[in-house]
Amino acid sequence: MSIYTCPACGKKGFNPYTKGMAGKMNSKGRPCKYCGTRCVNGKGATIFNAIFSLIVFAGFVLLFLYAPQYHFLAIREVPLYILMLLAELIVPRLVNAFCFRMTESIRLEL
Ligand SMILES: [Zn+2]
Repeated sequence: MSIYTCPACGKKGFNPYTKGMAGKMNSKGRPCKYCGTRCVNGKGATIFNAIFSLIVFAGFVLLFLYAPQYHFLAIREVPLYILMLLAELIVPRLVNAFCFRMTESIRLEL
């Protein structure tokens, strides 16, 4: 079974782009091409995203604490912050696009 298979109808209703944009379990998700069921990236992706965010946050804190003490860090402080921010935005989407199974969105529409 492919990771792009829809959990509701069993057809390959997603591609790397739509899967990457489907978000994690607390997001609205993307509708399946065939049955329209809103799907999101499952538990694995949600856990990975949470851990990755924590690592990026730890990186921010460490850089903030240590940059003034090390010249090579201090001169690169701002680009490093930008790099980490970009990583936080891009890496989870890329990983979601190519790894982990999808699951039906459990978020209720208001
Ligand atoms: Zn479907």
